[in-house]
Amino acid sequence: MIKAPITNEKVEIIKNTILQNPIFEGISLPSISDEIILEISTGGSQCKTAIDGLVKDIEGTSLKEDFNTLATDPNLIDNITNLAVTANTKQPTCKNNDGEISVSATGGAGTYEYKLSTSTTWQVSNVFKNLKPETYTVLVKDKQGNSGKTVITIIQNLTITINVNVSISNCSKQPTNTIIVSVSGGTPPYKYSVNKGSEQSSNTFINLYGTNIFEVEDNQGCNSAKNVNILANEKNDLSLKLKEITNTISLNCEEKEKLEHRFSNILETCFGNALYRGLITKGVKLNFKISNNIAGTKASGGYDPTSNDLSFQSVDALEETTLIHELFHAYQNSFYVGGIDQYRKNGGKGRSNIEFETFFMLDILAMNGGGGQLVIRNSQEEMDKYFNWMLNLTDNDNHPNSWDKIKDKYFYFLEDFKKSIPAYNYPTDENLLPNAYFSLIKSSTCKQ
Ligand SMILES: [Zn+2]
Repeated sequence: MIKAPITNEKVEIIKNTILQNPIFEGISLPSISDEIILEISTGGSQCKTAIDGLVKDIEGTSLKEDFNTLATDPNLIDNITNLAVTANTKQPTCKNNDGEISVSATGGAGTYEYKLSTSTTWQVSNVFKNLKPETYTVLVKDKQGNSGKTVITIIQNLTITINVNVSISNCSKQPTNTIIVSVSGGTPPYKYSVNKGSEQSSNTFINLYGTNIFEVEDNQGCNSAKNVNILANEKNDLSLKLKEITNTISLNCEEKEKLEHRFSNILETCFGNALYRGLITKGVKLNFKISNNIAGTKASGGYDPTSNDLSFQSVDALEETTLIHELFHAYQNSFYVGGIDQYRKNGGKGRSNIEFETFFMLDILAMNGGGGQLVIRNSQEEMDKYFNWMLNLTDNDNHPNSWDKIKDKYFYFLEDFKKSIPAYNYPTDENLLPNAYFSLIKSSTCKQ
């Protein structure tokens, strides 16, 4: 009568089918061991002996016969088919016994019931919860006696999940960025660190830029790390770039944001970029400030070569042209041997050279796209001559990159410049050529 090999799962199902049969309801049966069930399932004389032993204390022949019929019913064993069983696990959180197994079975009929081999009871739910990491055998049966099983392992989890959130504060708040590390899973308290530095109990970090590795360890030694590139934020990127050429910034938040905005516009140009890189190469560190007492001039901005102060008359004066003008002076100061303060002394010989080089640079930029009024304005005739010279120098959007290209008219227009802006009417130094400008143009990506 047995066609299929008897598996442990089939024995289990036969046993339960016998026990659950209504004819035994209310009757206390002797315990039915797996060995007895196996003997019953085997059939023949072994089966008869097993059943005789099992029912010897049960009174009433009809009961004995019913049991005998049930236990030897060929359908009970022969119709048992294997269910196809699969299972998935949900990994427990770090070192916790909260793993899950969800089971699915096909091939049977009706309602399935599920049981772990370690459990004594069957359940209708196909999900087992609160499991510790180990290997489980999952049994499935239906009312027809079909059964199946699968083996699945819940793996120990030694990691926790962390998330890093970077927020940029607005002007009313300092610092400029706040990094909050959050943890899911694991066991508190947590210890936090950044870039392998010392551990802290606070999950908050401030003012970190660039690539940072955040690490968290829980109370049980479970840990996790996350790489975060904070440069991804444009504002932080800009702040970092400005920081490269900054010693101090004595500006309020609104002024600082305006400075960053102007600086950002300058960095977008080929010359502005070269100027910025030139300042970094020379190691120039500036003190940005607002000052309504810029020495000796009524200018909107000023650069002091002895203190490296870069000042604006007011926040309204913090414009792109003024910023690039003063940044260029800072570059000249590092480029010319002895600095540019020497041209303010001894009657100011060369001071007009320094200023005209700056205005010449700005006029070339204006001709090549920026727009704006050119510096020569002592007469209409000279304005026209200067404009035509500029037009020629910037033909095809070129930037003149050598003395040869400008030497025919440069000192001529320098004299016009002194007449145009009498505040810069100092003796000309015939040996002071605009080499700071050429050095930047040559290092730039500007068309030349
Ligand atoms: Zn100037």
